[in-house]
Amino acid sequence: MNTAAVLVRCESAARTYGAGATAVVAVHGASCEIRAGDRIAITGPSGSGKSTLLHLMAALEEPTSGRVTWPGLTGKPGPETVGVVFQGPSLIPALDVVENTALPLVLSGRPEPSARRRALDCLALVAAGHLADKLPEELSGGQAQRVAVARVLAAAPRLILADEPTGQLDRVTGRHVIDVLLATADTLGAGLVVTTHDLRVARRLSRQWSMDDGRLRAGPDTFPASAPATPQGAGP
Ligand code: ADP
Ligand code: MG
Repeated sequence: MNTAAVLVRCESAARTYGAGATAVVAVHGASCEIRAGDRIAITGPSGSGKSTLLHLMAALEEPTSGRVTWPGLTGKPGPETVGVVFQGPSLIPALDVVENTALPLVLSGRPEPSARRRALDCLALVAAGHLADKLPEELSGGQAQRVAVARVLAAAPRLILADEPTGQLDRVTGRHVIDVLLATADTLGAGLVVTTHDLRVARRLSRQWSMDDGRLRAGPDTFPASAPATPQGAGP
């Protein structure tokens, strides 16, 4: 039995945008648990509800029905407990790259020199150290995406939610970003969820879930693993 802390639990969590005839059900009642140590890919076409589900897990959105709770965290999620790598642009235009990366640490009271040092270390991990004093507008989409990853790593959260973190990266850089996310999640003992529509990326994580038209399909491995039945006479 998996006794690791449940970092987030969704119980029939649903999110509808708008009302009446124009209402869009982005996520139908989704039920799942993410524990420390979990490595989960969520695949699905564009518009299937992946980003909305991650935003529910990060408390950035309220479910319109059902519940989302964080039994293994104290208090509500914040950058130091649940780190989100956003799918779209998320850097603050007026701050340079190192200031953007250090911001969650500074906001949580860390002295600036120490926050900058940690930010620079995390930028180096995603091969973005040389971008430290650039402004977001000077970055390519892929560079900005790597900085967004570094900002999450710097905050050392218990749960990392990465929304298509390789969407704008070439294959080699994308593979490297997944390497860094996996290694950091291991170091922190964190849970890691990555949404993607690239099956090569999804296969890097130990479990694959999928979303289709707002419905989450968690794999059979969601349930407590039982010993695999070995057919009689099988094997050497
Ligand atoms: P994905 O990340 O899989 O592409 P999303 O979660 O972004 O899917 O979107 C799921 C559905 O919800 C889509 O139909 C999308 O248009 C709709 N949606 C997402 N965010 C909003 C919003 N803020 N307002 C209205 N509709 C939205
Ligand atoms: Mg999305």
